[in-house]
Amino acid sequence: MNCTETLAPQSPTLTPLGRLVVLTGPSGVGKGTLVKALLAKHPPLHLSVSATTRAPRPGETHGKEYYFLDRPEFETLIATDQLLEWAEYAGNFYGTPRQAVEAEIAQGKTVILEIELVGARAIRETFPAALRVFILPPSLDELERRLRDRGTDADPAIRRRLDHAQAEIAARDEFDVQIINDDFDRALEQMERVIIG
Ligand code: 5GP
Repeated sequence: MNCTETLAPQSPTLTPLGRLVVLTGPSGVGKGTLVKALLAKHPPLHLSVSATTRAPRPGETHGKEYYFLDRPEFETLIATDQLLEWAEYAGNFYGTPRQAVEAEIAQGKTVILEIELVGARAIRETFPAALRVFILPPSLDELERRLRDRGTDADPAIRRRLDHAQAEIAARDEFDVQIINDDFDRALEQMERVIIG
C-alpha cells in the first residue's frame, strides 16, 4: 500500500483506528493480575500475547501467557521484522508479535501491551499516540516480598528483577499515567478510568 492509499479520505464505513495502551511496571508489581481483572470486566479489550525465550512457569501454556520460543526461533522473528519491539530482560528475550497487534488496531480495538521499560520506550518512538501507564509498588520492600511470596523465581532471578525494578521506577515520569498498586480495587478502578475512560 502506498501513502496515497493510506491517506485516502475516510468513508463513513471505515472502522476507526483502535488504541494502543502500554502497561509497564516492575516484575511482581501485580500488572498481570490487574490486566486479567480488567479484561474480565471489559472483554472487548485485547491483550497482546508476547513471545519469550523464558521457560514456562507451572500452569503457563504456549499461546496463552506467551509464545515460548527457543533463541534461534526468537532471533528469526527479529531478523524478519515480525516484532513491534523486543528487549532482553533478566537473561531472556521478550517481544511483541507485530501482525496480531496491527490487525487488532486496524479493526478499531484497544490493544494492551504488558511490557518492560526498553520495549515501552521503543513503542513511544513507533506509536507516539499510545497511552503509557506505569504501575508502581507501594515500596521496594513490598515488591521484594511479593516476588518472594509468588515463589516463581529463584533467589538470583529475584535479585535481577529487583535491580531492574529500581531502574524502571526511576523512569516512571516518562509515562502518561502512574498508578500505585497498594490497594488492588483502587488500582483497578484507576486503570479502568484511564484506559476505558
Ligand atoms: P515475566 O518473566 O515475569 O513474565 O516478565 C518479565 C518482564 O518482561 C515483565 O516486566 C513483562 O512486562 C516484560 N515483558 C513481557 N512481554 C514483553 C514483551 O513482549 N516485550 C517487552 N519488552 N517486555 C515484555
